[in-house]
Order: sequence, then structure tokens, then C-alpha cells
Amino acid sequence: MSSSKFLATPKPAPDLNIPKSLNTVKVSVIDSTARISVPFSHFLTPALKGKERIGGPAYSTLIEHPSGRKVLFDLGVRKDWENMAPKIVETAKEAGWSIKVEKNVAEILEENGLRAADIEAIIWSHCHFDHTGDVSTFPSTTALIVGPGFTSQMTPGYPTNPEAPILESDWAGRELREISFPSELRIGNFAAYDFFGDGSFYLLDTPGHAVGHMSALCRTSTSSSVGANDTFVFLGGDCCHHGGEFRPTPYLPLPSSFSPSPLTPHQPHSMCPGSLFTAIHPTFSPVEPFFDITPGVPHDIDEARKSIRGMEQFDAHEDIFVVIAHDESLLGLMENFPKSLNRWGETGLKQRGRWAFLQDFGEAVEQMKDTRVWLD
Ligand SMILES: [Zn+2]
Repeated sequence: MSSSKFLATPKPAPDLNIPKSLNTVKVSVIDSTARISVPFSHFLTPALKGKERIGGPAYSTLIEHPSGRKVLFDLGVRKDWENMAPKIVETAKEAGWSIKVEKNVAEILEENGLRAADIEAIIWSHCHFDHTGDVSTFPSTTALIVGPGFTSQMTPGYPTNPEAPILESDWAGRELREISFPSELRIGNFAAYDFFGDGSFYLLDTPGHAVGHMSALCRTSTSSSVGANDTFVFLGGDCCHHGGEFRPTPYLPLPSSFSPSPLTPHQPHSMCPGSLFTAIHPTFSPVEPFFDITPGVPHDIDEARKSIRGMEQFDAHEDIFVVIAHDESLLGLMENFPKSLNRWGETGLKQRGRWAFLQDFGEAVEQMKDTRVWLD
């Protein structure tokens, strides 16, 4: 693409050194029915006019290996969320979080012909309540898989530790397996764990947001010439909470113009210049993300920022589609379970979804005068 299509010349996407493989997994993103809404400033800075709250869905993702093995990456929020660890229920109520959940993921699977017993393991990207779901709705044959440091830093859970944010019932009587990342396998900037041992599905060590935070890289298609045009879905968990936290970048600058305008995505003939968005960018940059993480939110902010920079390198590739756990802008654009996401590359989803988050900037653009409109 010519650089005149962008407000800055894009840097080439860095080589991620993804090992070659002819094996894929079937990836289906489940809309867990959870809807969460929290004050924007609790997660992102600076504030954005007209966007006082952030939230949306909490995706759970079903990964199906051709052998029949099935795992879930994250579980959303448990339906009876007031039965979470008391410390978290208290925090949610005090902080004014809104949490609505219609179904547990086990119910959604069963409504669509799968049994909870079919699930070999549940992988928690991390152990926050909006990812842990209710593991006790799965039989004891379903293992629980967690990231590095979980066992030493997060157990015992509630009630053995009355202050714990997680429930012991989630792993009572089942295998609790903690991933340790081998030093010899790295994909992009991240240590990687080849889950099925055949290159179809990797867990990635993406620390910072929470203890043992993990992402996943799923190979969704292979080409006949191995590796050349493979496609992947990157499941980013809570590395980021909004598209403006990892876009734009030097690899993916803001375009010179949009059609349709991301502010009016349902009007196919609408247009707007990319400069509309640099004008409200905190540093007026076409190559830096709009938002930073609010200090105090992540477990380790330096590591969390490093993980975001690493994720941006995946997002830079046309053949990798990034799904973060709470990406509201993908609701309605992305096919959800029971449909699979594997054919995302043929549907233009990446192009349609890439700047969809800018829809949240409507009021800021509207109120733009000739100076900054950021609140702080
Ligand atoms: Zn979350």
C-alpha cells in the first residue's frame, strides 16, 4: 500500500518467528453473555469526552483440535456473580461496576450440542473475576490451567484465605496445572508454550496486567506452501481493554482518510479525514496509541506496557487477527460461537474491525475546537 494512504509511512511488520506447521485449530469466540461496565478512568488514561465508562462483553474462546481435544480460553463472569469471593463482590459494589450475566459458558455449550464434559481444560488468561467464570460447572475431569506464579501468589483461595479474590471451588477436586514457559521457544517478544505439541495453538507469556497473565496464538489456516500465508487469531486477554490502547502504531499508522467514517459505520458512503483523530490525540500522533494504562491498575505496569508493545507486533501483521477479551467494537462484526472464526481472513474482518474502536470518539470529535479536548 502506498504511504500516501497513511498519515505516516508504515514501518514493516517485524518478523515474529512463528514456527512452521501444517496443523490448525478451530477457534470459536463465545459471547459469554456477560456485560460489564466500569468507569473509563479506572483502566485508561487520559480521559475521553463522551466516554465515561468502558466495558462490554467478556469473551470465552473454544479451541478445538482436529484430534477432538477441546479447551476453553477464559470463561467470562459466573452467572451468580454475587457468589464470587466476597472481597471482589464488595469491590465491585463500592466501585460502581455494573455486571450483568445471563448464562454460564457451560450452559451456552450445552445449548449448542457440546457437553461440559467434552472440555479437557479451561485456561485462565488470568484470575480476574471477568475471566474465571464458574469452573465448578464443569466436571472434575476438566483441568484448570493457569499462568506462571499463580500457585505461589494466588493460592490458597477463598474461603481458606478470607481475603482472597478467587474461589477454591474453581479448582477443588480437579487438576490445577501451572504453565512454565520453556526458554527455547519464543514467538515475537514472548515466551511460548506449544499446547498440543504440533504448532496449532500456543500459549504466550504476556505478563503485567495480572499475576501469570497469558495470551494465546491460534493457527486458523495453513497454505499449501507451509507458513507462507497461514492465518492466526491472537487472543490478547486483558493485555488491553480498548483498541485505542494498541492502535495506531508505527506499523499501523492512522489512514489519511476513512470511508465509511468509523464515526458512522452504518453509512457506507460516509467519509472523514484521519486528521480528525490526530487532532484529538493526546500527543497529536498518527503512530502512537491513544491511551496508556491507568497507573495502579496492572499488577506490574512496566511489564504490562511491554506486553502491549509485543502485542502490537502481532497486530501489525495482516494475517493475524487480534481479539482482546472485552473488545466491544467487535460485537456484531465478528462471528461468534457456534460459528467459528477460522475464515476471518476471507471476510475482511481485520480491515473492518481495525479502526472500529474510533466510534467511541464521536463526542470528542464533535466538541473539538482548535485546542485539545482531553479532559486532563
Ligand atoms: Zn478482564
